[in-house]
Amino acid sequence: MNISKSKTLFSQAQHSIPGGVNSPVRAFKAVGGDPLFIKRADGAYLYDEDDNAFIELINSWGPMILGHNHPEIKEAIIKAMENGTSFGAPTAREVHIAERIVQMVPSIEKVRMVNSGTEATMSAVRLARGYTGRDKFVKFEGNYHGHGDAFLIAAGSGAITMGAPNSPGVTTGTAKDTLLAPYNDLEAVKQLAEANKGEIAAIILEPVPGNMGLVLPKEGFLEGLRSLCDKEGILLIFDEVMTGFRLAAGGAQERFGVIPDLTTMGKIIGGGMPVGAYGGKKEIMDYVSPVGPVYQAGTLSGNPIAMAAGMAMLDHLNDHPEVYEQLETIGTRLVTGVKKSLEKLGLSYTMTHLGSMYSLFFTDQEVIDFETAKSSNTELFGKYFQAMLKRGVYLPPSQFESLFLSTALKDKEINHILQANEESLKEILS
Ligand code: PLP
Repeated sequence: MNISKSKTLFSQAQHSIPGGVNSPVRAFKAVGGDPLFIKRADGAYLYDEDDNAFIELINSWGPMILGHNHPEIKEAIIKAMENGTSFGAPTAREVHIAERIVQMVPSIEKVRMVNSGTEATMSAVRLARGYTGRDKFVKFEGNYHGHGDAFLIAAGSGAITMGAPNSPGVTTGTAKDTLLAPYNDLEAVKQLAEANKGEIAAIILEPVPGNMGLVLPKEGFLEGLRSLCDKEGILLIFDEVMTGFRLAAGGAQERFGVIPDLTTMGKIIGGGMPVGAYGGKKEIMDYVSPVGPVYQAGTLSGNPIAMAAGMAMLDHLNDHPEVYEQLETIGTRLVTGVKKSLEKLGLSYTMTHLGSMYSLFFTDQEVIDFETAKSSNTELFGKYFQAMLKRGVYLPPSQFESLFLSTALKDKEINHILQANEESLKEILS
């Protein structure tokens, strides 16, 4: 495969951009080789600067649930652009998108738009602290909530990939208020609540973590957290930046029937534009400025182009519930096919799957938390990634990321992925 233009761009980029990329996982450090520089995307495909085409299973880390360049979203963006790119004043679109989110997401009665998932989680935890008058919060090892200081402790996603789940620059003062528990370990959370009685503002989690690879909640785990929060006056925050509008129209909370106090969202909500949001019960959300005392703001929040893209996306998902059936079918076909190949080749690697998210872990342990996810053979994953790439399939460049599917994957692409998977597994094991 000729990737000479990407190689040249990467070496040029390193002179002016740290590591040559604007977000660490993009550098391919965990899988080796040089990153591809992408020129354009359409449907299920990415095209690099050397005009190689790849079927891709990242979908911009989640948002492109309908595939790239979807005509309704493209049209909404072009139309909105004709009227100016930013006003810094309220718009009708912000009202419409807020109403749509309230209608779709079970826990949300009021919502505030921000510009990224990171802003959403930082703001939600600040709000929980302001509302409860407590300082501490619980997060789970291997869950990723963006790069806010208080979250960069045992963080998943790029932080694990780069081998730095705890980042320098986070002060001990900040870190002391972040309490850690293993994901899926309700007993550990109960012990933290007991040891810090009356001091914990919130428990934040990815209800279905995708940032240590995909991990599923054990039966009763989410319900157990809900009861504990009710008992202890702690706010339950679901970080649905990945799972929102993906696992169901109402996210993981709809799928599992557990309703948090606050929800953070991003990715799909912007239709590929930089958007995040947090929302929840009225009485909590009314604690946010200007009606309440907790300050949070943003010059570009509710940006008209981003809102137009997000609105087109949410309208589509709301008006086409069959999208979720399609995603289930695509997910099941791929996972069944990969499992068949594993069986045929006598391999006992672990697969996790829910709807349009799945992971293949290069370990034979059941993956239920950060520790078990880390039992994966990451070197072998790197070889698998390269073998797939060579065959025209672009996976997330880290073992510790979920794959994201889109409705743009049709028979042709599914068959191609499954064939590439079997050939790649054979190649790396030979
Ligand atoms: N929360 C979760 C669950 C995420 O997966 C991410 C990003 O991947 C974030 C928060 C941070 O979002 P952003 O990258 O938009 O800041």
